[in-house]
Amino acid sequence: MSGNPAIPNHWQSVRDHSRAWEEFLLVYPVVSRRSGGLSIGVNLNPDKRCNFDCVYCEVDRHTPPRILKADPDRIRTELAAMIRAARSGELARHPRFRETGDLTRRIRDIAFSGDGEPTMVPNFAKCVRAAAEVKEAEGLHDTKLVLITDAAGLDKADVRRGLEILDAHQGEVWAKLDAGTEDYYRRVNRSHVRFDRILRNLLLTARQRPILIQTLFLKLHGQPMPPEELEAYCRRLCDILDQGGRIGEVQAYTIARPTPEPWATRLEPSELETFAEVIRQRTGLPVSVYP
Ligand code: SF4
Repeated sequence: MSGNPAIPNHWQSVRDHSRAWEEFLLVYPVVSRRSGGLSIGVNLNPDKRCNFDCVYCEVDRHTPPRILKADPDRIRTELAAMIRAARSGELARHPRFRETGDLTRRIRDIAFSGDGEPTMVPNFAKCVRAAAEVKEAEGLHDTKLVLITDAAGLDKADVRRGLEILDAHQGEVWAKLDAGTEDYYRRVNRSHVRFDRILRNLLLTARQRPILIQTLFLKLHGQPMPPEELEAYCRRLCDILDQGGRIGEVQAYTIARPTPEPWATRLEPSELETFAEVIRQRTGLPVSVYP
């Protein structure tokens, strides 16, 4: 399955995932192939902090942040204004979205992502509640609330409270897993968080609700993930399933924009599809491909 061919990745609005939008500080619009249309992002990490240091990270950490904290009141104000701009057609008329037409009038999801890891913020549950309340007040009963996460903080008490709010509001957890072993994880994600904590958190979360796994496959110094690493990665997914976790889908993608490390490069579409087929065969899970 190739993810959403109706949204080509050469559209400027797809290539430009900038989190700066006019005078907004926390909320931004993107047309996302993985969302299937307009995703309104809520940047919980305007300070650009992350507990990963992925070799492919696109966050511009040279430009100083405009604000340091995600404030629930600001989320409320900006999110309501962005929802109204989308529905009124104001976004559709903006030059950034000239190719996408009316696609921006339908809000597919509201996504907590941004310039760092959302589960690191101390007021995660309050921020989720603010977004959920706006979503309901604006009548977006079918719009998903998505958490895009590296999974490192999914075991924190406040984050788990936030997940319960997500669950009650068409929530989905899209969790990153880029490796099958600690060694490869350290090479790609370069995190001080232990790999077994990531795996434990994925299981913990997937036992409560189905999660979606997002995996970025790439080449390191010209070498794609070795077969034994791919095998280990598939085993990690099977471990989650075998222990009672639910995985709705795997989204396999590759580098789409320039990375800070020139030796981290994209896979060809055929290579990505070959990886996806191995994952389907080994795990039985549906895999969408975003070359
Ligand atoms: S988890 Fe996301 S924000 Fe953090 S380093 Fe990786 S790509 Fe960047």
